[in-house]
Amino acid sequence: VAALSAVGAACAVVDEDDVVVWASPGATAWGMVRAGRLADPALRRAAAEARAGAEAVEAEWLPKEARQRNLPVLLVIRAAPLVPGQTVVMAEDRSAARRIDDVRRDFVANVSHELKTPVAALTLLAEAVEDASDEPEAVRRFAARMGREVSRLSALVIELIDLSRLQGDAPLSHATVVPVDDLVSEALDAVRTRAGAQLIDLRATGEPGLSVFGDRDQLVMAVRNLLDNAINYSPERTRVVVAASLVGDMVEISVSDQGIGIPERDRQRIFERFYRVDPARSRATGGTGLGLSIVKHVCENHGGEVTVWSAEGAGSTFTLRLPAQVAQGPGVDAAEPAERGSR
Ligand code: ADP
Repeated sequence: VAALSAVGAACAVVDEDDVVVWASPGATAWGMVRAGRLADPALRRAAAEARAGAEAVEAEWLPKEARQRNLPVLLVIRAAPLVPGQTVVMAEDRSAARRIDDVRRDFVANVSHELKTPVAALTLLAEAVEDASDEPEAVRRFAARMGREVSRLSALVIELIDLSRLQGDAPLSHATVVPVDDLVSEALDAVRTRAGAQLIDLRATGEPGLSVFGDRDQLVMAVRNLLDNAINYSPERTRVVVAASLVGDMVEISVSDQGIGIPERDRQRIFERFYRVDPARSRATGGTGLGLSIVKHVCENHGGEVTVWSAEGAGSTFTLRLPAQVAQGPGVDAAEPAERGSR
């Protein structure tokens, strides 16, 4: 029994008549034991099975309380013979693991759907090309569409890889002091051609010389994703502005557009993976629905946050708020990793 106290799970030891001879505090808390007996038929059944056969018995169990109040709880019970005449029944809380499983299942279902759509389109287009092999004009048209589907597929694969890297165990293993001016200009360079094609006026303003501490690639990726969206969801001949400022001890980097805006009811959900206000529009611009969830992860990895302001039909502003890297005083080169370098 002393050894059982060391087991993390809730335990109850019963005799041959299901009378409890010992119970851990957890067993009482979960409602396994009531009035000195096993409280639930499922528990008594497990004990009886363990008594009948020598093997350990395992089953899922929903405590009555959780059932009545519809709580997302899942316990796994195990019963095994302890010493002659005594059986131990243990309950382990798997609720957290179950919730993670549910999220993962949704995610996998979404990924499969998103991957299947371009693959199905490619299959059809390949057949169409074959059928039209003596019509060069049609072949060219189908080939162009194949190219678009392929870029969608590769964008999706790249973003999935980015996202899984961000969720890795050591999110900031490559942290350094990053000058905000550098990361803004790197992100701007990455989208300049696309902005030009839409005659969008791309500008950077704000306070120069600010620094943040973090993973340079991740931060550039976050700003670039916001710029990508600003361009994607804006009409031609509009303006997109990136601005940096110091507010208290936080650096704010905002990306503003004069685009279609985001309806109020969608504003909370756009940071979820695969959530899109208008799936058709997002697909048309090569969107994957992953961009903003990547931005959110980057901010969380850096102890910051991302917020959105938007007015439908007028535009949107996304703001990254990251802890500022304070100047170290004279003589310290800002390009050197600071004292916190081993975070
Ligand atoms: P996507 O790849 O579809 O752009 P994101 O995760 O980057 O996915 O964004 C989620 C959704 O939020 C988009 O589908 C779009 O509906 C909306 N959205 C994001 N940025 C903007 C913006 N700047 N203006 C208007 N809508 C936006």
